[in-house]
Amino acid sequence: MKIGVFNNYNILKYYLSLSTNMISILSGGTGTPKLIQGIVQIINPEDLNVIVNTVENTYISGNYIAPDIDTVMYTLAGIINEEKWYGIRDDTFITHETLEKIGYNEILRIGDKDRAFKIQKTFLMEKYPFSKVVDIQRKELGIKSRIIPMSDEQSNIKIITDRGEMSFHKFLVEEKGEPEVEDIIYNKVEPSNNLLQIIKSSEMVVIGPSNPVTSIEPILSIAGVKKALKRTYVVAVSPIIGGKPLSGPAAKFMSAKGYEVSCTGVASIYRKFLDRFIIDTEDIVSKKKIEKLISEVMTTNTNMKTMDDKVMLARSVLGEIL
Ligand code: GDP
Repeated sequence: MKIGVFNNYNILKYYLSLSTNMISILSGGTGTPKLIQGIVQIINPEDLNVIVNTVENTYISGNYIAPDIDTVMYTLAGIINEEKWYGIRDDTFITHETLEKIGYNEILRIGDKDRAFKIQKTFLMEKYPFSKVVDIQRKELGIKSRIIPMSDEQSNIKIITDRGEMSFHKFLVEEKGEPEVEDIIYNKVEPSNNLLQIIKSSEMVVIGPSNPVTSIEPILSIAGVKKALKRTYVVAVSPIIGGKPLSGPAAKFMSAKGYEVSCTGVASIYRKFLDRFIIDTEDIVSKKKIEKLISEVMTTNTNMKTMDDKVMLARSVLGEIL
């Protein structure tokens, strides 16, 4: 009898669920959610904390928009639109299109079901801090892993470009990421409740393959986070493969911050608290150089196109914990 790959995952998942410890992963909204899909196939989802960037949160049409939180939430609920890594699969856009017809152009294309969650967030935020709101929504969606916003406070991110200062969404959507980027600035925010405790008590913290400048550094910039990471076993996956990001503006943002656009550049950002770094096989020539910064460097396929790729990478990341 041929045993399908999926059956093997389920058997593995059952045995591993008996033995794993708490793992935390720092996430943005595209690269890391793919890795999360692999991780929850091989550990008990209850053992996973996802700490999510909130620097891009904003209000649109009166509703609170938390792009990376929603992507992580929809990913774990199995309803994410995997073409865009944004919004809900097979959503309709009746409200968005009606608004357009009556002369109101929203900066982001928001689906109808997706909008319902954003409206609920906005109402709940009248009563509760943001992290509680996210916890209510993830429970309603039947998600077993915890989703922890890095902060309950609102960030104010500005992209400084050759066409002037603009919001993150204006740069990415209206300006299509085209302007030359000179700097990226955002304000300091306080950690959400228990954030530091969760990091300190984790068996392992994973820094997923997300934009180092606008997804991971905002989390690292929170007072106490780097110190907590130094006391924990930390593994990171490079979002840069062969000197390029797979998607998004990471190259422009890294250059603007004076980092080399390469896995070595990413290593230089995380070096002070990183125990193990996973780079793509394509970057094997950089391994020796990075070993001067980080004691353990692994090469493997990190380009996650299929569920098999995601599970294989998750296994490499979790390594000794499994
Ligand atoms: P954002 O919040 O939408 O900007 O998304 P993230 O910060 O989570 O992710 C953007 C980064 O993910 C980019 O730098 C991509 O290179 C990286 N990325 C996307 N898919 C993959 C993948 O399959 N493997 C790796 N290694 N990186 C990826």
